[in-house]
Amino acid sequence: MTKRILVNGAGGFIGGHLVKRLKAEGFRVRAVDLKRHEYSESPADEFIVGDLRDQDLARAVVEGIDEVYQLAADMGGAGYIFTGEHDAAVMHNSATINLNTLEFGRLAGVKKLFYSSSACMYPEYNQLDPDNPKCSEDSAYPAAPDSEYGWEKLFSERLYLAYMRNYGLQARIARFHNIFGPEGTWDGGREKAPAALCRKVAQTASGGEIEIWGDGLQTRSFLYIDECLEGIRRLVESDFTGPVNIGSEEMVTINQLAGLVMEIAGKRLTIRHIPGPLGVRGRNSDNRLIARELGWKPSRPLREGLEKTYSWIAAQVERAASLGGSAA
Ligand code: NAD
Repeated sequence: MTKRILVNGAGGFIGGHLVKRLKAEGFRVRAVDLKRHEYSESPADEFIVGDLRDQDLARAVVEGIDEVYQLAADMGGAGYIFTGEHDAAVMHNSATINLNTLEFGRLAGVKKLFYSSSACMYPEYNQLDPDNPKCSEDSAYPAAPDSEYGWEKLFSERLYLAYMRNYGLQARIARFHNIFGPEGTWDGGREKAPAALCRKVAQTASGGEIEIWGDGLQTRSFLYIDECLEGIRRLVESDFTGPVNIGSEEMVTINQLAGLVMEIAGKRLTIRHIPGPLGVRGRNSDNRLIARELGWKPSRPLREGLEKTYSWIAAQVERAASLGGSAA
């Protein structure tokens, strides 16, 4: 019988792409989110608009489901999760979604659950040197994430592992490192660095100026969405529980990332550094464990994914401008 899959957070960036991938693979997909996808029509067999904090809704959506991909979370880029203003909401909302999904999933007999954790759960003390951040999976403890978003991810990782230990269901846990690509949030305050930079460059004429938070010397790696989906699917089909990093090892500074976007756009712009929420000083994926356990790791160059992302965001900026929106 065709496997019946539930995707939580299907109206979001990764969940939206995941639904397309699962449908292309021939699964029966039920999708749930607070909202429909903003940028494309979902091919899900059913799309339920609802709140996974609501126990009745969470109980209803897992009925008849074999596997759950849990991607729903109250989240955003640095401008959302590092200001402190949304801490209580982030912790309460995301933890409630995970508590409900696991408890009602267990009661409904769901066999396997995928959970999307984040590199934000790694301790800040290992990410102070931008040239040598440490993010191997076994460096998670003693725990000291730099945000409440990271603490919630750590709590929920443990919750999935506890349900696996005590109730016999299967959990698969990935720690994503900055996933980017088309059809993700690109304005409004929840967008992440690659999307924000693509938007700023697309909105600025050659010779102009863009702003970057901090000195731009903080480092990160960025993984293109298609590689993220490949990693998720391989993990779910494997016998390996994780938690495991799904990220790129191509570490760049934010200034370098901005330079790459300008090159792709064919624009010369000046960067002005301004104060802003930053997160840790350095972060890079460590792909030794995924390579060892799954015999695969992400490997496509950053530039390739950025080209596709820039052209999609530039088209959004143009469309917004033609409709008279500021999109600033
Ligand atoms: P996203 O914000 O685009 O998607 C999350 C979706 O969850 C949104 O569509 C939102 O409406 C939905 N949602 C939030 N609260 C809900 C609720 N109460 N009920 C139903 N739906 C609800 O984010 P994304 O980038 O697609 O991330 C997906 C998952 O991966 C999240 O758990 C996120 O924490 C994790 N993650 C993402 C990244 C990244 O770089 N994008 C990195 C690390 C971890």
